[in-house]
Amino acid sequence: MQAKKWEKTDIRYLKGVGPKKAEILQKLDINTVEDLLYYLPRRYEDRSNFTLVKDLKVGEHHAVRGKVLTLGNHATRKGIRVFQIAVGDKTGIIYCVWFNQPFLRKLFKVGQELILYGKVEKYKKLQINHPEYEFVTENNSLNMGRIVPVYSLTQDITQRYIRFLTHEAIARFLSSAKGALPTRIMARAHLVDFCFAIQNIHFPASFANLDRAYRRLVFEEFFILQLALALKKKSAKTKTPGIRHNLDAHLMEAFKKLFSFELTNSQLKAINEIQIDMANPKPMNRLLEGDVGSGKTAIAIYALLLSFKNGYQAALMAPTEILARQHYMTISELLMPLGVNVRLLVSGLKPEKKLEIKKEIDSGEVDIVIGTHALIWENVEFKKLGLIVIDEQHKFGVSQRQLLQKKGWNPDVLLMTATPIPRTLALTVYGDLDISVIKELPGGRCPITTYCIEEENRQKVYQFIKEEIEAGHQAYIVYPRIWSSKNTRASESKLKAATTMYNKLQEEIFPDLKVGLIHGRMDAKEKEAVMKKLKSNKINILVSTTVIEVGIDIPNASVMVIENAERFGLSQLHQMRGRIGRGDYPSYCILMGNPRTESAKRRFFTMSETQDGFKVAAEDLELRGPGEFFGTRQHGGLPELRFGNILKDFDIMEQARAEAFRLVEEDQDLVDPRNSFVKEVLKRRFSGKFDLINVG
Ligand code: ADP
Ligand code: MG
Repeated sequence: MQAKKWEKTDIRYLKGVGPKKAEILQKLDINTVEDLLYYLPRRYEDRSNFTLVKDLKVGEHHAVRGKVLTLGNHATRKGIRVFQIAVGDKTGIIYCVWFNQPFLRKLFKVGQELILYGKVEKYKKLQINHPEYEFVTENNSLNMGRIVPVYSLTQDITQRYIRFLTHEAIARFLSSAKGALPTRIMARAHLVDFCFAIQNIHFPASFANLDRAYRRLVFEEFFILQLALALKKKSAKTKTPGIRHNLDAHLMEAFKKLFSFELTNSQLKAINEIQIDMANPKPMNRLLEGDVGSGKTAIAIYALLLSFKNGYQAALMAPTEILARQHYMTISELLMPLGVNVRLLVSGLKPEKKLEIKKEIDSGEVDIVIGTHALIWENVEFKKLGLIVIDEQHKFGVSQRQLLQKKGWNPDVLLMTATPIPRTLALTVYGDLDISVIKELPGGRCPITTYCIEEENRQKVYQFIKEEIEAGHQAYIVYPRIWSSKNTRASESKLKAATTMYNKLQEEIFPDLKVGLIHGRMDAKEKEAVMKKLKSNKINILVSTTVIEVGIDIPNASVMVIENAERFGLSQLHQMRGRIGRGDYPSYCILMGNPRTESAKRRFFTMSETQDGFKVAAEDLELRGPGEFFGTRQHGGLPELRFGNILKDFDIMEQARAEAFRLVEEDQDLVDPRNSFVKEVLKRRFSGKFDLINVG
């Protein structure tokens, strides 16, 4: 029979797939033969060699082949239901145990021959708890006597079924399948043929073949991603006309005079990189990475000023209203005296006020507008937008960034983030951007000491806060929720709520001090009043939710208490801790809570061990995995990856990246016929999904 194109063939075309099965497969996102062949095993079992019962080693995984000798359900004294079978081969007996799955009884029969796989343990007898099992039938060469693939499946689909199906698909369609990599790149990277890779990723003839197959598929996936990034970067650099800002040495002098401190070398270096970009007629697309407190705002101010000097308008967008207001206060104070018209646009403003500001932006009267998402949603029109700065950019999506960008005519873009990731990784995730990294914190900062404290020492914590406040400082106490809830799950209702605790702290614990409250649901006026009081030290203790996580800058604060700290992720804890340690006296971060899980313990440990944001981010990345850590591409993070793991497979990523960028250097529009297939694959992969690439 003539081979059909695999990528377009509906899965129902395969033997054994009726409407019911097709529906179940769809739940696994398997619609076509291609989807099926790209549905990779979760792991493999070496069933090429069965271990005799007499040779089993306790603590190790083994595959055993034998017959069911006895079987039955019973209950333990605590009422746990146990299903147990005894399986024997020529050399001995091993017991298999399942808890709370009495229905299994129906599946097994005495005398049945089966294969077991799992970790061998020893109580009185040899035992495997919840083993993988497979009944031996005739014609079962896919399921035993070889390295066998194990897939993640939903109910109603068995391993045997999916193996059979995959095998069918390979036999009938693989010859029509084609990899995307040009042959010269395959040769340079020592990669195996695509069909060999697909065959061996499912049914590897050996573990060495499996490695080669995996490497090939991951390389191709990374290559396509990097190619998309390389093309995007190249076309932005060579095709899109942008704004040429003129530099001015006096401006730099005037800028430095704005601050009472000296800029750090890292800050100066970043500023220089930014101004070179802005002077270039191509649009700037730069990410500024720096730990919390490294002084990114000052750098942004230089860019804003440069745009103003060149007669353009600039916009700075922040993820929360509190942060936008704070930036507004700082920036208007510094720049208004220089004749710069700075305005704030947030949704909390009165409608008339908003209208007025929007008019001024439209007419070009406003030089710099600072705001939140309101800048995107409120129908703002600029007269001459030349620069966009996005603070805490990881809180925004790519599409939101683009919406703001479209309000100008290829404006320069500066993104800032305090979730620093290793540079090599940043090149991968943000491969289309240029990157500046701030390596040092401003000098004269005292270190922050972090303590993990248990409930029984709560009074000591309160006492400690009092002492710090008597010494003139301020404190934050952060709670996981705004309001306490009575009718949710028990684990939730134990969480402390900011509003309840605010009353308790003010009335019972710190009656002589001034306690303030801030959270996301308060109206704009209230928030503003609280922030003003905090700035002028009229509030000693600020009770809050995580709204203060980003950006808030009160150098006089020296204590950060985080309640139920086990609820927060590592990056979030680090961001909150970044609210203190901004002055030249010691600061203290106190994590209250009870880390029960392994991951929570590691988070507490990391926080108490290091203050280095790069280390924290690396650990967070490892704990949560790249998908969680970066989010998906739509949210400004990572494109979904089918095979590769950017942490584990980093060397492959680097090699693929080098090849992809080389290819774009050689053939920017992919017109060389040798590149036509990779171009097709690229278009298919990214068509309409993300505004990631633009290939003709
Ligand atoms: P982040 O990078 O977290 O946004 P900020 O821009 O809010 O940090 O700066 C943190 C604090 O450090 C601010 O109070 C700012 O005025 C101060 N700061 C910035 N640069 C310096 C410097 N070079 N020397 C001393 N203090 C600085
Ligand atoms: Mg900041």
